[in-house]
Amino acid sequence: MPSPYVIAIDAGHGGSPTSDPTQLWDPGVVVGAVMEKEITLDLAFRLRTLLRRERVKVVLTRSTDEYVEISERWNRVHASGARMFVSLHVNAYDGDPSINGAAVLYPKPDSLPFAQAIDAGLAQALNRFQIQDDGVVTKPELWVHSDIPTATVEPAYLTNPRERSLLLQNDFRDAIVMGIFQGMLAADPQIEQTRIQIAHAEAAAAAQRQAEAASAADAARTATATRWGLIIGGIMVLWVVMRTAIRRAVRTPQPPPYRRRTYRRRRSNGKL
Ligand SMILES: [Zn+2]
Repeated sequence: MPSPYVIAIDAGHGGSPTSDPTQLWDPGVVVGAVMEKEITLDLAFRLRTLLRRERVKVVLTRSTDEYVEISERWNRVHASGARMFVSLHVNAYDGDPSINGAAVLYPKPDSLPFAQAIDAGLAQALNRFQIQDDGVVTKPELWVHSDIPTATVEPAYLTNPRERSLLLQNDFRDAIVMGIFQGMLAADPQIEQTRIQIAHAEAAAAAQRQAEAASAADAARTATATRWGLIIGGIMVLWVVMRTAIRRAVRTPQPPPYRRRTYRRRRSNGKL
C-alpha cells in the first residue's frame, strides 16, 4: 500500500484558565464571547475532514483546547513527516473595525508559491461572500524553522462586524477550508496522485481478497462433494457386499440332515 500524503494543520492559540496560575493560556483575538482559539480549532477539524476524503493523513498540532508553545507546535509538525503545513488564525485590527479582508502569510521565499496557491484558492472560495483578497505577505518571524511549504491563513477579521458575523456561520467556515483545500491540491499534484495510487492499491487488494474467498468457497464445495462421494460409495459397497452374501446364502442351502446321515452311512458301508 502506498504511504499516504501527510499534511500538518495548526489551530492557532488555545487553552483556558485553570486553578494553576502558572499554567499559560491563549484565547487569541476575543470580541465579545467570540474567541479566535475556538474558530481556529473548528476550521482545523473541517479542513481535516476534507483532506481525509482525499486520503491525506492529517496531523493537528492540537485537537483540544490546550495551550501549546510555538516551538512545540513546530516539533509536532516536524515529527509528523508532513509535506505541507498550514496554520489557521483569524485577523484583528484594534481601533479600526472597518479593516477587513483575507491574507496569507509565509515565512520565507521557498514558501511563496505555496502561499500564493492557498491565497488563490481562498480568494476564489470567499468571492461569493465579498471578502477582499489582501494577497500574500511575508512574515519571517513566524515558523522560523519551517523547511516545508508553510502558510499562515488569516481568512477574515474578527474585529470587522460583517466578517465577524460571517465567521460565526457554517457555510462561511466551510468556504474557508474549501479554499485552503483547493489551494493545497493546486500546490502539489502529488496529493491527488497519492490518492489515486491508494485507491488502485485498495482495489487490487479487494480483488485479491475476493479471489481468495472464491477459491476457498470452491475448495469447501469440493471437500463437501468428496465427503458425499465417500458416504455414497461406502453405502454402495456395503449394499453390494450384503447382496452377494445374501445370494450366496440362498444359493448354497445346507443339505438336509437326513441326506448327510444317509451319505455317511453309505460311505461307512463301502469301507467296511
Ligand atoms: Zn491568531
